[in-house]
Amino acid sequence: MSANADGVFIIYTGGTIGSLPKDERDPMSPLVPKKLEEVMKRLPNYDERDKKIFIGGKWIRIGTLCWEKPIDSSNISPKDWQDLATIIKQNYNDWEGFIVLHGTDTMAYTSSVLAFMLDNLSKPVVITGSQKPIGETRSDAVQNLVTAIEIAAAKSLGCTVVPEVVVFFRDQLYRGCRTTKMSASDYNAFYSPNFTPLAEVGEHIVVNESAIRKPSLQTLNINTNLDENIASLDIFPGMSTILLNNILTTENLKGVVLKTFGTGNAPTTPEFLKVIEEAVSSGKVIVDVTQCRAGEVELGLYDVSAGLLSRGVTSGLDMTPEAALTKMAVILGKKSSNEIAADLMQLNLKGEQRQSIFNIHLPGGAIGDDGKPVKVGQIGTMIEGHLYESDKLDKAIFRLMGVELIEGKRGIIDFRAYIDLPGADDNTSEEGNPNFLGKWSKKYDRDEGPVSIFQDIKKQALNFIDPRHPITITIVSIGAPIKWSKINIALFVNS
Ligand code: ASP
Repeated sequence: MSANADGVFIIYTGGTIGSLPKDERDPMSPLVPKKLEEVMKRLPNYDERDKKIFIGGKWIRIGTLCWEKPIDSSNISPKDWQDLATIIKQNYNDWEGFIVLHGTDTMAYTSSVLAFMLDNLSKPVVITGSQKPIGETRSDAVQNLVTAIEIAAAKSLGCTVVPEVVVFFRDQLYRGCRTTKMSASDYNAFYSPNFTPLAEVGEHIVVNESAIRKPSLQTLNINTNLDENIASLDIFPGMSTILLNNILTTENLKGVVLKTFGTGNAPTTPEFLKVIEEAVSSGKVIVDVTQCRAGEVELGLYDVSAGLLSRGVTSGLDMTPEAALTKMAVILGKKSSNEIAADLMQLNLKGEQRQSIFNIHLPGGAIGDDGKPVKVGQIGTMIEGHLYESDKLDKAIFRLMGVELIEGKRGIIDFRAYIDLPGADDNTSEEGNPNFLGKWSKKYDRDEGPVSIFQDIKKQALNFIDPRHPITITIVSIGAPIKWSKINIALFVNS
């Protein structure tokens, strides 16, 4: 079918926008979603017979589909998301844009999951709803829906096309996987805590062209396999580790979005960290997002997050909890290994996070009594098909985790590390050696647990790290025998 298709296809799932009191004779009875006609008959300049609306000086063709049983969005389920993606795919070539009418309560989940389910978008998919039913005099519904139609019909109206899954509400257009509901009652119900709006709507619709994603030239592909064995969990002061353990050992659980304090922080008690460590070693993907309204996770910035990192928790950077959870459902739905799923969770797939974190993994090791330097090689390659441009490298964090003295309760851990210099030994110079990563001297006390070392090695990464060639790290001990549990180099690459 033609790529020049015009018109907008509206899919109505329910929500306040089309709700009326359950008992029509009793205006105080609870609101329930009615059929789509309740919405369409109130749209100004809509020609019901010919299915078109006069907007922006033009007649725009309208197609509609009403959920068999319209729902309040509190009842939205992965099955509804699969249906939405499938319906968009089936009708993709016949329309220039799509609108999903949806309740506001879970709209941010739906807008996030659709962003991850729809690959290679080149057309707008606009999600909207309202805080007051369309039949009420002071309702916000008409303005939201009419503007959503203008945004979805941008091509016909000669305006900038936003080829993304987006949420339009009140006077702002947001990237779907960056959006969160912030008010239960304000007409400005949504916001995008860590990313600029894609358009501001007043008398004119002003699109922020530099912020929008490029349209894909490939065919639309949908990921309908969603793994439902996931959970979202807020930690809180005094949280019982028994409760945490009970949740993390739930049968079949595969992934958890852990909503932590501040920049990704959590308690450092041995009991808490043990539960986390056991969950990760039993194959669960744990992604750390902040429970703050805005800002991002910086694992290793404080000691209170370093322990999570060394136990295999991955960073959700500046993702919203809704984006993290739905991304996890889609990634785990692809059924790759836990390690690959954890690495994929850290890549910016649909503009949901400000950077991608590419991980290079190297194994644990030990330097024994003979003091001979140890060389460790990269495990596998960096995630296939996700090469990055080195001029976008922001930082490269070398993380040597779980470092301990092999003997003795306390003492000093003393060592140096080199990248791609297998022959490095005690006599290798540090000064001016481009392969030199660092020299560390750290106090160790067995009672306080292993030590982790984090260092930015951007300069060395630019010289030595090419995603196509695995690297080696050589550790030279200059003191007592040591061991470490793993090495990770995290490349933070701007989008
Ligand atoms: N409970 C409604 C829903 O999410 C609220 C709304 O649409 O504003 O379906």
